[in-house]
Amino acid sequence: MLSERARAAFRSALGTDRVFEDAATRALYASDETPHRVEPDAVLFPASHEEVAALARTAFEHRVALTPRGAGSGNVGGALPSPGSVVVSFECMRRVLEFDPANRLVVVEPGVVTEDIDRLARTQGLFYPPDPGSGAYCRIGGNLAMNAAGPRAVKYGVTRDFVLGLRAVTGSGEEIRTGCRTTKGVTGYDLTRLLVGSGGTLALITEATLKLLPAPEAVATLRVCYAGNRDALAAVSRVMRQAVTPCALEFMDRRAIDAIRPTGAADDLPGATQALLMVEADGAAADLPRQIAALEKALLGDGLLDMRSGFEPEVITRLWAARKSLSHAVMRIAPLKINEDVVVPVTSLPDFVDFLEHTAQAQRLPIVSFGHAGNGNLHVNLMVHPDDADEMVRARIALEAILLRVLALGGTLSGEHGIGTEKRRFVPQEIDPVTLDLMRAIKRQFDPHGLLNPGKLFPDP
Ligand SMILES: Cc1cc2nc3c(=O)[nH]c(=O)nc-3n(C[C@H](O)[C@H](O)[C@H](O)COP(=O)(O)OP(=O)(O)OC[C@H]3O[C@@H](n4cnc5c(N)ncnc54)[C@H](O)[C@@H]3O)c2cc1C
Repeated sequence: MLSERARAAFRSALGTDRVFEDAATRALYASDETPHRVEPDAVLFPASHEEVAALARTAFEHRVALTPRGAGSGNVGGALPSPGSVVVSFECMRRVLEFDPANRLVVVEPGVVTEDIDRLARTQGLFYPPDPGSGAYCRIGGNLAMNAAGPRAVKYGVTRDFVLGLRAVTGSGEEIRTGCRTTKGVTGYDLTRLLVGSGGTLALITEATLKLLPAPEAVATLRVCYAGNRDALAAVSRVMRQAVTPCALEFMDRRAIDAIRPTGAADDLPGATQALLMVEADGAAADLPRQIAALEKALLGDGLLDMRSGFEPEVITRLWAARKSLSHAVMRIAPLKINEDVVVPVTSLPDFVDFLEHTAQAQRLPIVSFGHAGNGNLHVNLMVHPDDADEMVRARIALEAILLRVLALGGTLSGEHGIGTEKRRFVPQEIDPVTLDLMRAIKRQFDPHGLLNPGKLFPDP
């Protein structure tokens, strides 16, 4: 529970109507996409940068831990309240502060929904490329904290590549401004890139200046079916070796295809299909045939069963909706998914999926893989029954083996979901002690009392 003094101070900073301590609100903000629940002591709803600064100063003075939160769609416990903390929800900070098409930028508060930024940009012939599958409801603040990405990352890059500057509040309540409004700038250290992906552990982001690009004139989609995972991922490697970069290169294995069957999006696939690629090209309409021809050439190869383009727009919309529903659709297989978001070099993908298959057989577990293959980023889901102790042990063995293999292949533990509470114990496997100590020192500089999102990102000492 909040102390009387802390409660009074938060109320005076935000007003009584934006400090909630009732049981229903605390229950509502107790979870994210992970299966865990921790009720916060209170939930705060600041409406401006100034209010965020005031609440952070209050928290600093009264030593109250803060859990920043966007839409709570994160898969790694980043927005899961740490015990005894207060949630800072950015839902009331959803203003677009500036839209400057001539300078191709937009300035937004952290509570703006990601797809709304893209929608706004397109009214002036521009677009905002980062497109996480949750884009219809996740908030840009959460995207910034997690360095979120989506299918278009293979051509355009991730959230971090579209942030020109930030305004934020440190753990002691001080305002900082990072970056600039221009697409070039090298004054001082690049704190923008440091804050993006820091999972709410260094500062509360209150404003972001985002870069926009001219919207592509047209998009063309290929749906390509293969007889095996290895065949499909060998094709991914061939695509990335040639000159035309697709704006999406997504992979689904057989179990993922089965999971989307109820949507109808897999009805007309050849019966022998074991793996599917969704490949898109974008740009000037006149240039698309050239791009598609180059991609088709690269996609030809062993195990190819079917390659189609020229779909009706509704078919493409349905296919993408099915792809984006996968994160939840796989739950039909088992009640709990242990959801990894690993990345390996693109050329290692075929060997990596062989290893996954071997691990699935050895540990008698369904493993479902899909994701952004053009970046080497696969969502590897170990589907388990949490009340089956033996299965849980096997899942843990499988998980350790998979993560070790990822690192051995020169990959990384998380491509876009971040570390949060779920992956932090594995961090020392990737980051050496000296580098980790430097990261801890940086954290102390931003957040001297360790009040910003404690229990996240760093392993226990
Ligand atoms: C169906 C589904 C599909 C998904 N697809 C993708 C995908 O394709 N790509 C992808 O990258 N992710 C994906 N995700 C994961 C998730 O949507 C992203 O991580 C997203 O960025 C989280 O945004 P959010 O607003 O829900 O943030 P939350 O989950 O609320 O928070 C995420 C993190 O950001 C911190 N945070 C939030 N706001 C701020 C702020 N203003 N200042 C500082 N820290 C802050 C939180 O403390 C937490 O650590 C998916 C999730 C689901 C459920």
